[in-house]
Amino acid sequence: MRQPQLLMTFDDCTVDHWFVHRGVFDDAAARVTFFVSHVDRLTDDETDKLRALQRDGHTIASHGLRHLDGPQYVAQHGLGAYLEHEIEPSIAALADRGLGHRDFAYPFGRHDRATDDVLTARFSWVRTTSARHLDGSATQVLVDLDAPTRVLPARGIDVGRSGVANPDDRGALLVVLDEAARTGAGVCLFAHDIAEWDHGLAQGRNFITPDRLRAVLTAAQERGLTAEGFGVLPD
Ligand SMILES: [Zn+2]
Repeated sequence: MRQPQLLMTFDDCTVDHWFVHRGVFDDAAARVTFFVSHVDRLTDDETDKLRALQRDGHTIASHGLRHLDGPQYVAQHGLGAYLEHEIEPSIAALADRGLGHRDFAYPFGRHDRATDDVLTARFSWVRTTSARHLDGSATQVLVDLDAPTRVLPARGIDVGRSGVANPDDRGALLVVLDEAARTGAGVCLFAHDIAEWDHGLAQGRNFITPDRLRAVLTAAQERGLTAEGFGVLPD
């Protein structure tokens, strides 16, 4: 049986908060992936922090230059313009800063066959999103990382979104982790900012608290899942 694997990911660009809470990853022996948007607008300080996270063994990857809805943009402007204005400049901005750029996460999880075809030719792995099912469908997010597909579903674990608390689905997540451990599957999760309740809710962010993140990483560790960045996945 394959070693069960947790691919924990964070989206967008709250670099300062990711960096300040990096001890949570170390405590759980977890390596994670940061999918960064608006890389051309990073300050030198934020760039240095991402480089430090990368040196720690975490993966830095692309989340698009302007966080565009891929299928919508392609419908209006075409695939060529999407690559030219959203994808290639994101790759270049990461490369210019010495940051990783092999993989990609779709903003809003929005994708279709056409974007998958063009982006799996450009990236090694592309990550989508999937529903936070509370029933047996929750385990649909599990993947065989040795299979040829390079489009990965992911379950959201933010505790709040746009100023409102998400439903408590901790039980369903534990079922997913149990099943990954039992079958040797991979499971990809995603969150955004790492912040305390008052901080996240006040600013209307998608966020997970440090305590909740710690609980998820510990639960995965206790079940024998190794938490790795996308960088360990095959090309
Ligand atoms: Zn995003």
